[in-house]
Amino acid sequence: MMPPALEKLLILQDRDAKRLSLEAQVKVVPRDIASVEQKIATEKAAIESARAEAKALEVKKKSLETEIGIAEEKLAKYRTQQMSVRKNDEYQALGHEIETTQATIGTLEEQEIGVMIAIDEAKKKFSDAEKVLKENIAGHEARIRNLRDRETNLTAELNQAMSEVAEARKPIPEPALRLYDRVSVRSFPACVPIRSGKCGGCHLKVSSEVESESRKTDKLATCDQCGRIVWWEM
Ligand SMILES: [Zn+2]
Repeated sequence: MMPPALEKLLILQDRDAKRLSLEAQVKVVPRDIASVEQKIATEKAAIESARAEAKALEVKKKSLETEIGIAEEKLAKYRTQQMSVRKNDEYQALGHEIETTQATIGTLEEQEIGVMIAIDEAKKKFSDAEKVLKENIAGHEARIRNLRDRETNLTAELNQAMSEVAEARKPIPEPALRLYDRVSVRSFPACVPIRSGKCGGCHLKVSSEVESESRKTDKLATCDQCGRIVWWEM
């Protein structure tokens, strides 16, 4: 036999346990969503960096093409001048300029070929990476949808649990309820049995006074060590 108020407190405690568990589950969902969103941001940044790499190479190629164009104009100018000069040293000086410019163009063209190969490689790398990353992102987005569904379901369950808690509180006498609330804020479960003379909450031996009080059915006894509401079980 236990005090009637205690029987009701145990029903309340049971429902509070369910409510607390749901509250804890609901609480972590936004954190889980944020961590998946962070993964998506990382994947997107990787795509962006591959894209930027390919773009930088295109810019490099354009600038080499411009340089080659300028050198070729110079070369054409020297050749025209060479045809109209009469003096041999002037002719040779222009011939030297032509050779130097041709060598410059050769170097620039080699660089351009190198950049073009790098562009092909970067494009392939980018499209391969993009395919994988897009699949990953799709997976992350599905996970977020699941988490949002979970949040909705848990919130509905929590609301239900809260109204069940409110129902369970109604028939409990005010002093018992106040004691339970005070204890359960710091120690949950607030109501525990005494087994082998030890409190089921703090596992310390209760005093003989508490022990005899816990056998009574007309009042609630509390552990002299941790303050939990106790009843005599064996
Ligand atoms: Zn205790």
